[in-house]
Amino acid sequence: VSDDSLRPVTLIPGDGIGPEIADSVKRIFAAAKVPIRWDTIDVTPVRDPVTGKNKLPERLFESMRESGIGLKGPLATPIGKGHISLNLTLRRAFNLYANVRPCRSVDGYKTLYDGVDIVIIRENTEGEYSGIEHEVTRGVVQSIKLITRDASRRVCEYAFQYAHDNNRKSVTVVHKANIMKMSDGLFLEQAREVAKNWPHIEFRECLLDRACLNVIQDPSQFDVLVMPNLYGDIMSDMCAGLIGGLGLTPSGNQGKDGAIFEAVHGTAPDIAGKDLANPTALLLSSVMMLRHMKLEDYANRVENAILSTIAEGQVITGDLGGKAKCSEFTNAICAKLEQA
Ligand code: NAD
Repeated sequence: VSDDSLRPVTLIPGDGIGPEIADSVKRIFAAAKVPIRWDTIDVTPVRDPVTGKNKLPERLFESMRESGIGLKGPLATPIGKGHISLNLTLRRAFNLYANVRPCRSVDGYKTLYDGVDIVIIRENTEGEYSGIEHEVTRGVVQSIKLITRDASRRVCEYAFQYAHDNNRKSVTVVHKANIMKMSDGLFLEQAREVAKNWPHIEFRECLLDRACLNVIQDPSQFDVLVMPNLYGDIMSDMCAGLIGGLGLTPSGNQGKDGAIFEAVHGTAPDIAGKDLANPTALLLSSVMMLRHMKLEDYANRVENAILSTIAEGQVITGDLGGKAKCSEFTNAICAKLEQA
């Protein structure tokens, strides 16, 4: 196959364990002969000579303009003042308005819960993460939770479209409109309006605290959930816990002009550089990416090879109770794909 006939995908390996797990994806895609070509970009911020502020390298924008699709490893965000979160910057720069996090039980990895199959869709651009904070007076700070009708509507529309495309039965909007009557009230109102256009999908409303309680009691009550930014951030990590933790949960960010797929976990500095990371979350994110690119057959083959390797339980990483290195787990998946 000539290089020109391969579809480009922007790859951001990221920090910490990022390069190790990105390498695993590259090797597995090569073994499965997935018809894409990687454009690998280092997103270490560069300083703008005019404003003096950090910004993303221009090459990233060029690459994403060409590909419209990105796969991203985790990026380190130092806590405290003076550092921009590159993740937030990326979401804003590419208008990645919906974050999709499926949480499905993985065969072969036993947790307290069986048969979990929940999809969290989180508003990704505003809410509590609008980044508008200031000091009113010494010792008093204010943080603005910004909710707009347009952003609420677009993420709710995305949630129903996702439910429809993926044959899901219900969409639950999670909110606190009883307390935040205006902001969450607006989000809820938009969800109700959008729901009217999808009569074949059951629409439910649930308060955030009740949703957390009910998910832990019986996750099978839920199907697709849509919610404002902060609630989605917290609930999706909680749901990751139901299926065995951060090493297993993928995600996708849907944007106006493209999409970026990424693992939910961070850079895991404690195990970085030791070949100990579990690449499954980034691998399953890459499977979501292949489905988004309508490369369904490749997605199924890669997914089956990953999940059957875990289910067999012979070559699995430490976080899943095994002894295999990241590279050994990758080798086992490649061997399955090459045999097929
Ligand atoms: P983390 O997710 O990096 O690590 C939490 C724990 O989970 C650690 O013990 C780690 O070893 C383990 N872990 C995570 N991923 C794993 C994997 N694939 N395989 C095996 N074990 C895994 O969270 P943290 O320590 O709070 O954050 C570290 C850094 O990552 C911070 O700078 C943070 O800002 C950043 N971060 C980035 C993203 C992102 O880029 N999307 C998300 C979360 C955190």
